[in-house]
Parts: sequence; C-alpha cells; structure tokens
Amino acid sequence: MKFGIDSGHNCPPDTGARGIKFEDNLTLDVGNRVIAKLRALGNEVVVCRPSSASSVRDSLSKRCSTANASKVDIYVSIHFNCFNGQANGTEVFATSDTGRKIAKPVLDEIVKLGFFNRGVKSGSHLYVLKNTDMPAILVEGCFIDSQKDMNLFNPEAMANAIVKGLTGKVPSTPVNPVPDEEGNIDTTILRLQKALNRLKIVDKNGNALGEDGLTGANTKSAVERFQAIVGVQPTGVADEATWNAINLILAKRIIRPNHAGGAVVRYLQYRLGVENDGVYGPQTEVVVKNFQKQNGLDADGIVGPASWQKLIG
Ligand SMILES: [Zn+2]
Repeated sequence: MKFGIDSGHNCPPDTGARGIKFEDNLTLDVGNRVIAKLRALGNEVVVCRPSSASSVRDSLSKRCSTANASKVDIYVSIHFNCFNGQANGTEVFATSDTGRKIAKPVLDEIVKLGFFNRGVKSGSHLYVLKNTDMPAILVEGCFIDSQKDMNLFNPEAMANAIVKGLTGKVPSTPVNPVPDEEGNIDTTILRLQKALNRLKIVDKNGNALGEDGLTGANTKSAVERFQAIVGVQPTGVADEATWNAINLILAKRIIRPNHAGGAVVRYLQYRLGVENDGVYGPQTEVVVKNFQKQNGLDADGIVGPASWQKLIG
C-alpha cells in the first residue's frame, strides 16, 4: 500500500492553532511516527508536507499535487483541533464512501485511547479532501486547548492508533526514542542504571543502583518504581515509553504552571513530594516555589535550568 501522509501546517505562513500545546509540534511529532511505523510495516509512504509555500493556499495545493503526482492509494492529513477550551474528543473527516470506510477504523482506534467520539464527519469543505484524487481522510486527533485531551494525549499512542486503523496491524513500538540533551539514544543497561541514579530513583531496598551494566532484580525494581512515577506500565523492563520519559526529564524541559506536562511533571511532583497527577496546578506551584526558596533561587514557580540543576545535576 502507498500512503500519502500530510503532517498538517508546519509550513509558514501555513501554521497551526495554539492552545495548551502548539498544533504544529503535535502534527509533526505524530506524523513522523506514523510515517516511520507505516514504513516499518512494509508500506510505501510519500511525505506530502511541502518545505516552503508562498501562502496557506499554496501550502495546501502543494500537499495535494504531491499526493496526486505520486498516485498514492490513500491520503491522510493529520491535524489537531482548537476551539473554546471545553470542546474535546476526536473526529475524522472524509468525502467519499471509500474515504468513510477508511476513516471509521482510524476513529475507533483513537476513541479506544479514551477520547470522546465526535464521529466520522463530512469533509466536503476541506481543501485537501476536495483536491486529492484518491480516497482521503483528515484526522483531528483531539483538542490542543482541552486540558482533558492534553492529559490523555500521547504522540506514540496516537500514532499507533492511526496506523492500526489504517492497516489493521499493530505497529512495532521502538521507532526513535526521544534523544536527551546530548542527543543520546543509547539504551544500554549501563546508561539506564546511570540515568536512574542521576534521577535519584532507588531500588526496592532503598539503595542507589550498582552501575554494572547487568540486568538484575535491583535494577528491575528501580525501573518499576520509575515507571509508576511517570505513569508508564510498570513492567520493570525499560521500553520505549520509559526511555522517552527518562530522556525528556534529562532534557530539562522548562516547566511552567498551568500547562499539561505528563511524565516530566509527574517526576517533578514525585521529587517535591506532592500528589503526582502530571498536571502542574496550584499545589505543585506551592512546592516548586518552596523548593526554589530553600535553594536560594528565584521563587517564580518556573522550573528552568537552575531548578533542574538542583534536582538532577
Ligand atoms: Zn490544523
């Protein structure tokens, strides 16, 4: 099968919506994962997003021309919704009956992730659906301005759902772990032990891990502990989701109040001793400011480089 994958926007002046998150970042992240996963399953993929465009219309037109010229079998445009902060859920647009038949399983797989089912909708008003020659769908994954949706959102799970819906096959998980601040994608046991020690995750006996590069009961118990903290299935085995969480924390992302944060905020909450729900709300802000005061830092509640330095070195 030959897929045309169009990661929405990401081509100024064609830029996406801004909510709790920025649509461009999400469509590119999910789109890149979908492309890699479809290829890993043996499909041909044509990347439809252009590298530059003179206008939004030009950007849309180039996406369609690429799909049409390459004669892809199915065209998939990936977007995220933004409305009033209250609307939430997922919807998939299609124009033809064939398109609707492709849209339905994609929608069903995304709904399985916990998003509200807004249905398969008619996309006859959408430029990229009107101007592509083949069956085409436009996925609105969820709402980037909905706190509920952003708490649920995970790019890997979203990409897996889209690929499963398109192909009926479960994509193999490991694609590209998120590199840490040194671009490190080393996933050896030795690096795992060093990372967990740096993150101050102790084993079942309350001890730091021996850095011997060997998998053992102590390392497994520390991995399980870390997984529970960041909200990954606690298997004791460092899978891609676990490494992504480790690398995201080591990347020392700047964390601000009232933003959805997922694994990094959950880790931060664990370290500061507040309920770890992954949402930087008022309680978290209090403990962050206290931590900053105790460490002689500006108590602004924003976890930047100086705060991260005190937390993980
Ligand atoms: Zn969009």
